[in-house]
Amino acid sequence: MWQLLKQIARTRAPAEPAPAGEDAWRADGERIHQDILDVLGRALCIREIDAGSCNGCELEINALSNPYYNIEGLGIKFVASPRHADMLLVTGPLTLNMRDAVLRAYEATPHPKLVVAAGDCACTGGIFHGNYAVCGPLSNLLPVDVTIPGCPPPPIDILRGIIAAVQNKRAALWR
Ligand code: SF4
Repeated sequence: MWQLLKQIARTRAPAEPAPAGEDAWRADGERIHQDILDVLGRALCIREIDAGSCNGCELEINALSNPYYNIEGLGIKFVASPRHADMLLVTGPLTLNMRDAVLRAYEATPHPKLVVAAGDCACTGGIFHGNYAVCGPLSNLLPVDVTIPGCPPPPIDILRGIIAAVQNKRAALWR
Protein backbone atom coordinates (compact mmCIF):
# COMPACT_ATOMS: atom_id res chain seq x y z
CA MET A 1 0.00 0.00 0.00
CA TRP A 2 2.78 2.45 1.00
CA GLN A 3 4.69 1.51 -2.12
CA LEU A 4 1.67 2.41 -4.19
CA LEU A 5 1.11 5.74 -2.39
CA LYS A 6 4.82 6.65 -2.80
CA GLN A 7 4.57 5.80 -6.50
CA ILE A 8 1.47 7.99 -6.84
CA ALA A 9 3.23 10.88 -5.05
CA ARG A 10 6.32 10.49 -7.29
CA THR A 11 4.30 10.35 -10.51
CA ARG A 12 3.19 13.91 -11.07
CA ALA A 13 1.36 13.21 -14.35
CA PRO A 14 -0.72 10.04 -13.85
CA ALA A 15 -2.18 10.31 -17.37
CA GLU A 16 -1.03 11.75 -20.67
CA PRO A 17 -2.61 15.07 -21.57
CA ALA A 18 -5.57 14.72 -23.89
CA PRO A 19 -4.64 15.25 -27.56
CA ALA A 20 -5.76 18.47 -29.16
CA GLY A 21 -9.10 17.97 -30.90
CA GLU A 22 -9.82 18.83 -34.52
CA ASP A 23 -12.63 21.27 -33.90
CA ALA A 24 -12.63 23.31 -37.10
CA TRP A 25 -15.56 21.32 -38.55
CA ARG A 26 -17.79 22.40 -35.64
CA ALA A 27 -18.06 25.88 -37.13
CA ASP A 28 -19.84 24.23 -40.08
CA GLY A 29 -22.28 22.31 -37.87
CA GLU A 30 -25.31 24.36 -38.86
CA ARG A 31 -24.54 24.11 -42.60
CA ILE A 32 -24.01 20.33 -42.29
CA HIS A 33 -27.38 20.01 -40.57
CA GLN A 34 -29.01 22.13 -43.30
CA ASP A 35 -27.40 20.02 -46.06
CA ILE A 36 -28.91 16.90 -44.47
CA LEU A 37 -32.31 18.58 -44.25
CA ASP A 38 -32.07 19.74 -47.89
CA VAL A 39 -31.46 16.17 -49.10
CA LEU A 40 -33.69 14.22 -46.73
CA GLY A 41 -35.93 16.66 -44.87
CA ARG A 42 -35.10 14.84 -41.60
CA ALA A 43 -32.25 12.99 -39.87
CA LEU A 44 -29.70 10.99 -41.87
CA CYS A 45 -30.12 7.32 -40.87
CA ILE A 46 -27.10 5.07 -41.30
CA ARG A 47 -26.92 1.27 -41.28
CA GLU A 48 -23.39 0.07 -40.58
CA ILE A 49 -22.44 -3.23 -42.22
CA ASP A 50 -19.41 -5.30 -41.31
CA ALA A 51 -18.57 -7.11 -44.56
CA GLY A 52 -15.64 -9.05 -43.09
CA SER A 53 -13.84 -6.40 -41.05
CA CYS A 54 -11.26 -7.12 -38.32
CA ASN A 55 -13.45 -4.79 -36.19
CA GLY A 56 -10.82 -2.08 -36.08
CA CYS A 57 -13.04 0.12 -38.25
CA GLU A 58 -16.04 -0.67 -36.00
CA LEU A 59 -14.13 0.64 -32.99
CA GLU A 60 -13.64 3.97 -34.76
CA ILE A 61 -17.28 4.09 -35.88
CA ASN A 62 -18.27 3.39 -32.29
CA ALA A 63 -16.06 6.26 -31.17
CA LEU A 64 -17.95 8.50 -33.58
CA SER A 65 -21.01 8.05 -31.33
CA ASN A 66 -19.17 9.70 -28.43
CA PRO A 67 -20.67 12.97 -27.15
CA TYR A 68 -17.51 14.73 -28.38
CA TYR A 69 -18.67 14.42 -32.01
CA ASN A 70 -22.34 15.06 -31.20
CA ILE A 71 -23.50 13.42 -34.44
CA GLU A 72 -27.13 13.31 -33.30
CA GLY A 73 -26.88 17.08 -32.89
CA LEU A 74 -25.90 17.24 -36.57
CA GLY A 75 -28.89 15.12 -37.53
CA ILE A 76 -27.08 11.79 -37.98
CA LYS A 77 -28.13 8.54 -36.33
CA PHE A 78 -27.36 4.84 -36.66
CA VAL A 79 -30.25 2.44 -37.19
CA ALA A 80 -30.60 -1.32 -36.89
CA SER A 81 -32.23 -2.09 -40.24
CA PRO A 82 -31.35 -1.15 -43.82
CA ARG A 83 -35.08 -0.59 -44.37
CA HIS A 84 -34.84 2.44 -42.08
CA ALA A 85 -31.55 3.69 -43.52
CA ASP A 86 -30.59 6.32 -46.10
CA MET A 87 -26.93 5.32 -46.10
CA LEU A 88 -24.96 2.09 -45.84
CA LEU A 89 -21.60 2.52 -44.12
CA VAL A 90 -19.64 -0.60 -45.06
CA THR A 91 -16.39 -1.85 -43.55
CA GLY A 92 -14.22 -4.86 -44.34
CA PRO A 93 -12.89 -6.37 -47.55
CA LEU A 94 -16.27 -7.86 -48.64
CA THR A 95 -15.84 -11.55 -47.99
CA LEU A 96 -17.55 -14.15 -50.16
CA ASN A 97 -19.67 -15.14 -47.14
CA MET A 98 -20.98 -11.58 -46.75
CA ARG A 99 -21.52 -10.83 -50.45
CA ASP A 100 -25.20 -11.85 -50.62
CA ALA A 101 -26.02 -10.25 -47.26
CA VAL A 102 -24.53 -6.92 -48.39
CA LEU A 103 -26.45 -7.11 -51.66
CA ARG A 104 -29.73 -7.86 -49.84
CA ALA A 105 -29.12 -4.96 -47.44
CA TYR A 106 -28.54 -2.65 -50.43
CA GLU A 107 -31.74 -3.81 -52.11
CA ALA A 108 -33.68 -3.26 -48.85
CA THR A 109 -32.40 0.31 -48.45
CA PRO A 110 -34.79 2.99 -49.74
CA HIS A 111 -33.52 5.85 -51.90
CA PRO A 112 -31.34 7.91 -51.86
CA LYS A 113 -29.30 4.75 -51.00
CA LEU A 114 -25.98 6.42 -50.25
CA VAL A 115 -23.07 3.99 -49.93
CA VAL A 116 -19.86 4.83 -48.08
CA ALA A 117 -16.88 2.47 -47.98
CA ALA A 118 -15.03 2.99 -44.68
CA GLY A 119 -11.45 1.79 -44.28
CA ASP A 120 -8.77 0.51 -46.64
CA CYS A 121 -10.36 -2.95 -46.78
CA ALA A 122 -13.69 -1.67 -48.10
CA CYS A 123 -11.98 0.84 -50.43
CA THR A 124 -9.37 -1.45 -52.03
CA GLY A 125 -9.38 -4.81 -50.25
CA GLY A 126 -6.56 -3.52 -48.04
CA ILE A 127 -4.36 -6.21 -46.53
CA PHE A 128 -6.87 -8.86 -47.69
CA HIS A 129 -6.68 -7.87 -51.35
CA GLY A 130 -6.48 -10.98 -53.53
CA ASN A 131 -7.37 -13.36 -50.72
CA TYR A 132 -9.33 -16.44 -51.86
CA ALA A 133 -12.17 -15.67 -49.41
CA VAL A 134 -12.63 -12.08 -50.58
CA CYS A 135 -14.56 -10.70 -53.55
CA GLY A 136 -14.07 -6.99 -52.74
CA PRO A 137 -13.39 -4.12 -52.85
CA LEU A 138 -16.95 -2.98 -52.20
CA SER A 139 -17.09 -1.14 -55.54
CA ASN A 140 -17.00 -4.56 -57.26
CA LEU A 141 -20.52 -5.12 -55.92
CA LEU A 142 -22.19 -1.74 -55.26
CA PRO A 143 -22.02 1.83 -56.57
CA VAL A 144 -19.90 3.55 -53.90
CA ASP A 145 -20.50 7.28 -53.32
CA VAL A 146 -17.53 8.01 -51.08
CA THR A 147 -14.44 6.06 -49.97
CA ILE A 148 -12.73 6.76 -46.64
CA PRO A 149 -9.15 5.46 -46.66
CA GLY A 150 -7.26 4.52 -43.50
CA CYS A 151 -6.57 1.40 -41.48
CA PRO A 152 -8.63 2.21 -39.58
CA PRO A 153 -9.77 5.74 -40.45
CA PRO A 154 -10.19 7.96 -37.37
CA PRO A 155 -13.72 9.05 -36.41
CA ILE A 156 -13.26 12.56 -37.78
CA ASP A 157 -12.40 11.14 -41.25
CA ILE A 158 -15.46 8.88 -41.09
CA LEU A 159 -17.61 11.90 -40.22
CA ARG A 160 -16.09 13.89 -43.10
CA GLY A 161 -16.82 10.99 -45.50
CA ILE A 162 -20.45 10.75 -44.35
CA ILE A 163 -20.89 14.51 -44.76
CA ALA A 164 -19.20 14.45 -48.19
CA ALA A 165 -21.65 11.79 -49.41
CA VAL A 166 -24.61 13.97 -48.34
CA GLN A 167 -23.12 17.13 -49.83
CA ASN A 168 -22.39 15.36 -53.15
CA LYS A 169 -25.99 14.18 -53.26
CA ARG A 170 -27.23 17.67 -52.45
CA ALA A 171 -25.06 19.14 -55.23
CA ALA A 172 -26.45 16.54 -57.69
CA LEU A 173 -30.05 17.37 -56.68
CA TRP A 174 -29.54 21.12 -57.17
CA ARG A 175 -27.67 20.82 -60.48
S1 SF4 B 1 -9.18 -1.20 -42.85
FE1 SF4 B 1 -7.81 -1.95 -41.21
S2 SF4 B 1 -9.01 -1.69 -39.33
FE2 SF4 B 1 -10.48 -1.59 -41.04
S3 SF4 B 1 -11.23 -3.69 -41.31
FE3 SF4 B 1 -9.45 -3.44 -42.67
S4 SF4 B 1 -7.68 -4.20 -41.48
FE4 SF4 B 1 -9.37 -3.80 -40.03
